[in-house]
Amino acid sequence: MDVEKIKFVLVETSNGGNIGAAARAMKTMGLSKLALVNPCEFRTYECYSRASGAFELLDDALVCETLEEAVADCSMVIGTSARLRSLSWPQIEPHDFTQVFHDAPEGTRIAVVFGRERSGLSNAELSLCSSLVVIPSVADFSSLNVSAAVQVLAYEVRRAVLASEASTKALTADEATKKAATIKPGELPASHRELENMYEHLQATLIETGYLDPQNPRMMMPRFRRLFNRSALNRSEVQLLRGVLASLDKMSRRIKAKG
Ligand code: SAH
Repeated sequence: MDVEKIKFVLVETSNGGNIGAAARAMKTMGLSKLALVNPCEFRTYECYSRASGAFELLDDALVCETLEEAVADCSMVIGTSARLRSLSWPQIEPHDFTQVFHDAPEGTRIAVVFGRERSGLSNAELSLCSSLVVIPSVADFSSLNVSAAVQVLAYEVRRAVLASEASTKALTADEATKKAATIKPGELPASHRELENMYEHLQATLIETGYLDPQNPRMMMPRFRRLFNRSALNRSEVQLLRGVLASLDKMSRRIKAKG
């Protein structure tokens, strides 16, 4: 997922502090494209102080007169709203909203649009949006501060980026080979043969110490197998356990020798 193709658009934000806080929220999640439609005087002390270092987003922000202008280069425009609107706008949950990006054709530029603090987005502005994301807040106090709404949706973008990075990594055979080369031999999963040898050793030792009665084994070995299967032992762990068994063998030989 290419975050450079995603633009967050704030429409007529009336508090400069909110613009700064939105810039900060975006930057923490790796987003850098901010557009402001007819904003208040925002390059103020409060704005920069709430941005807390996300200054380049403010300095590089695209400032426009209208929403049309801000989204002119975007082929997908997604609105956000604190409340359910009429049914003409398909509604998406925040956790589904990045799926829309995935399903969009390669190279699609996307705008996510946030409304005014008091009145949200107008119907004319909403008509530019193909769908609407509503953060499911409580019904009788549903409106987030605009910068908090920016944070929630920026986080969803971040989650999608991390998920797609993880799946790309899992798919790159080259990377898998490189990773395998850096794994120490002891960290490799124990082979079937190594495990069987360990079980044989365990059984012999337990018989030797008298803990396991071969005439009445009480499912002891299957239970041990289940326990060790759950822990997915690696080679060095098998060696460790076999070391313990060997030391018990030695001790029981010594005790027997003493008579
Ligand atoms: N009374 C306005 C609230 C505006 S809050 C309204 O009903 O729309 C300012 C902006 O923050 C909103 O326009 C929207 O972009 C965003 N926002 C606030 N709460 C939200 C929520 N629960 N879900 C999605 N966006 C929200």
